[in-house]
Amino acid sequence: MTLIRRLLLPLILLLTSCWAAPASGQAFAEEFEAWNLRISSEPQKVLDELINHPLSTTDLTYQAQYHFLLSSVYLNLVYPGKALEAADQGLARLSAQEPGWLYHRLLLVKSQAMELSGQAAEARPMAAQALSWAENNQDAGLLIDALIGLGYVENTLRQYTSALNHFMRAYELAPQYDAVITQSAIAGSIALVYEYRKEYALAIPFFEEAVAHHRSTSNLLELSIALYGLGRANKHLGNDSTGISQLEESLHISRAIDDDQGVAYALKELAPVYQLTDKQDQARSMLNEAADLFTRSQNRYMLFDVHKSLAQLNLNMNDVRLAKDALLSARVHLDEQRMPIQAIALAELEAQLLAKEGLYRQAFEQLIKTVSRKQQLLAEQSTRELHELRTRHELQSKEQENLKLAEQNATQKLEILSQQQRNQTLSISVGAAVVILILLSILIYLTKKQQQALTQLANIDQLTGLPNRNHILKLAADCQQQLEAQQRLTLCMLDLDHFKSINDQLGHDVGDQVLSQVGAICKTHITSPHQAGRFGGEEFLLVFVDLPASEVEQILKALQQSVKQAGQTILPTNHQLTFSAGISHCHPGDDIKNCIISADLTMYQAKQAGRDRVCQAKPDPTN
Ligand code: GH3
Ligand code: MG
Ligand code: MG
Repeated sequence: MTLIRRLLLPLILLLTSCWAAPASGQAFAEEFEAWNLRISSEPQKVLDELINHPLSTTDLTYQAQYHFLLSSVYLNLVYPGKALEAADQGLARLSAQEPGWLYHRLLLVKSQAMELSGQAAEARPMAAQALSWAENNQDAGLLIDALIGLGYVENTLRQYTSALNHFMRAYELAPQYDAVITQSAIAGSIALVYEYRKEYALAIPFFEEAVAHHRSTSNLLELSIALYGLGRANKHLGNDSTGISQLEESLHISRAIDDDQGVAYALKELAPVYQLTDKQDQARSMLNEAADLFTRSQNRYMLFDVHKSLAQLNLNMNDVRLAKDALLSARVHLDEQRMPIQAIALAELEAQLLAKEGLYRQAFEQLIKTVSRKQQLLAEQSTRELHELRTRHELQSKEQENLKLAEQNATQKLEILSQQQRNQTLSISVGAAVVILILLSILIYLTKKQQQALTQLANIDQLTGLPNRNHILKLAADCQQQLEAQQRLTLCMLDLDHFKSINDQLGHDVGDQVLSQVGAICKTHITSPHQAGRFGGEEFLLVFVDLPASEVEQILKALQQSVKQAGQTILPTNHQLTFSAGISHCHPGDDIKNCIISADLTMYQAKQAGRDRVCQAKPDPTN
């Protein structure tokens, strides 16, 4: 923990190197603005100038600005106690929290100072308040500073995810807002979080980005700090030679710019390397120098660490007296409550020293104490780990619950979708049904037509176009059925004369032509309700429904006339086309077949009587 304190510096320096000015309205007094810009390059000079600056004015806002700058410089020089004091002085002058831009900038430096003083938990709400004010008042400069400041505190509080989120937001916003702090400078902070999480491989590219940035802007102080972080990360990953050369460069730069604290941190980090390579005297002088420098900045954590390292080194070199001095110094700087692991390490070293002095019993007792403290710590750690595990488990359960909910949502969506699909299918089905109905109607229509055609085919004689034998018989029967009591049918059996000779002499085709023509003539003269049909080869049955004999006679005469004319048209002059016909009557209740036979017999009588005539079966009493 103490070792990585140096890594906090990039963040503080990011914030204090040049605090973002407020967007508009009230701003820094002119002379403060100039100091503000010089903080990062010449912090010590700015501090001297500020201290010598007479604060003659009674303007509280002016005084608050002065304390703000003072606090920033102290932070930059890593004097957290003095930085905190200056911030409080500034805040005390703005009791009404006005102006907001200055009040919240002061709040933010105070939170940084508190963090550096080991009060991260108390520092967090202040940084959060500054962030929220910046968001609400669209103070872009403060917004980015507050994001970094809050991330920095959260990082110390091990709220790494939240810290990363805030840094990443600052990283993304910086170019948009043309912030004083550039994206690549923020990269160093992101690298730091990864370093804290011991994700060194992830930290390295961000450190490298920061190094490249500071190298290009020749910001030597920040370059040395970024190099320090990069060197440490590389050392952790086992890239020793790269890491050491980066740490050495950091040390070299820190010396060149008189950054004492930078020198101290680099020395502390490099000393163990020399120790391992048998340059123990050099390592000891490096640690001694670091101890002096940390004493100046009253950096308690690092002082403990350096003295502990010195004690170990002296023990290794069998210098009991120096080891004892170093252990005493380390114990002075140890904060037992906040540094339990370090306390155990120190106790172990003390046991080693006692053993070196020959005080074995005391050494043994000290070791026993150390072991039991270790066990206690381990138990606490397991409890903490258990707690973490439980939290993680709860988190997972919640995630699973969320997953389940998401699943349910998905199922619901699917349901809706399938409902929609069903509806679609239904519409399609209805559409299809309509189409099918139309097709069916067409089919039915066509079938009907076909049936009609079939019926026609079945009932109609192709050659003459008249009802065929069966059909005319049926029609005749139907007509008889529909007769009223006093009504009658007149049946006429008509047979062409000497038709065989037409066939024989003129050919069958001519015979057909004659039959076809006779059919047409019948259709013309005999219309509904009367009927005419082809009864046989060249025989036709005519049915007159309740028609007076005179009218029947008239029709038959017209028929005779037409047939003769047709004969004249179709046949050669030595041929005549005539017919013989027999008439019978059929009343309701009569057997229609008998009536037809009667007409047929009468037709034979006409033949016998010389053809080309119409004979009556018997006198009709109703006529
Ligand atoms: P009659 O005056 O005594 O009735 O003499 P006919 O020659 O008309 O009588 P017959 O019954 O001996 O001859 C009928 C002829 O009709 C016989 C047959 O070849 C002919 N015939 C029957 N159906 C058809 C047909 O569809 N087409 C043709 N061209 N001839 C047919
Ligand atoms: Mg015949
Ligand atoms: Mg005939």
